[in-house]
Amino acid sequence: MKMASLSRRLKYGRRSPNPIPSIWREKDHLNGEPVDSLVAIFRTGGCRHFLDSGCTMCGYYTGALPRPIDEDLAMEQVERLLSSHSGEPMVKVYTSGSILDPWEFPPTALRGLLDGLCGTVEAIVLESRPEFVTPSALQMLEGCGSRIYVALGLESVNEFVRNVLINKDLSMEAYQRAVSLLRSEGFGIKVYVLLKPPFLTEREAMADSIATIKFALGHADIVSLNPVNVQSGTVVEYLWKRGLYRPPWLWTVVEVLKVGKGSGRVLVSHPTAPGRPRGPHNDGSDDREVSEAIYRFSWTQDYSYLEIDGPSRRKWAAYIGFEDKAVMRGNVEEAIF
Ligand code: SF4
Repeated sequence: MKMASLSRRLKYGRRSPNPIPSIWREKDHLNGEPVDSLVAIFRTGGCRHFLDSGCTMCGYYTGALPRPIDEDLAMEQVERLLSSHSGEPMVKVYTSGSILDPWEFPPTALRGLLDGLCGTVEAIVLESRPEFVTPSALQMLEGCGSRIYVALGLESVNEFVRNVLINKDLSMEAYQRAVSLLRSEGFGIKVYVLLKPPFLTEREAMADSIATIKFALGHADIVSLNPVNVQSGTVVEYLWKRGLYRPPWLWTVVEVLKVGKGSGRVLVSHPTAPGRPRGPHNDGSDDREVSEAIYRFSWTQDYSYLEIDGPSRRKWAAYIGFEDKAVMRGNVEEAIF
């Protein structure tokens, strides 16, 4: 065993951290056109919200390390990201938590990340829970020669959906405070909206996401609609395994996205595992075409991609109608088709 990996094993225990962050490239939308982006997910001790409970759809804690990472491990990951960068104008850096939380990600490593990226890319997207968007955290981001967007997980504008069904533990006051601070300091704002938390019907989920997007479009530069995918070790997975949850239909994603038309803001959706049982899906007959239309819309902001039809669209409408009348909540697909 090499010395570096032995020392990591001693420091972090048997679940010795893999210093290799997940890094990949994907298309995105920036300044009115499709661009290539580099995405990294750093391995950290995980989101602080997991310490008390965590969100009902979020399984990121299963990949988290047993304790907060030190500067060396954080810098090792930063360097891997920087050496992977090959001119992409947009770089998105996630920790499956909050990169602005100094407990989760050492501020010196964040400084190193910014030193490496600022001025060399057009846009940097960082992700954080709103409570870590503080004046001192934003001070670290100041003076960057690139536009920095801070991504906030609002999920739902509805208090009950956000804090009971999703268990986000986020007050609207904390969210608004973060938004005001980011605005006043001139940073960009990206907002995550969750599509179909547990315990909502397809129609209720659609209405909730539409209301949330309308609200977010009023102050965010970019709104990202995130359809739930069933992650391991979550409340959503518990329900799904018992036939009490179905991920959203891709048709629902299409319909919800239409609400952004004419807003002048960027609205995107990059469904995870589309067409798979754990991801947003239709009935298998047109999943590929519909998810492709969603991606293409997200890259281009061309709403004509959402004027799509397919063999399962009528089935989707029937599903929604049946679910409205169903006595029990859950996946009624098997019962009706
Ligand atoms: S969704 Fe975000 S805030 Fe919720 S537990 Fe996961 S990482 Fe934390």
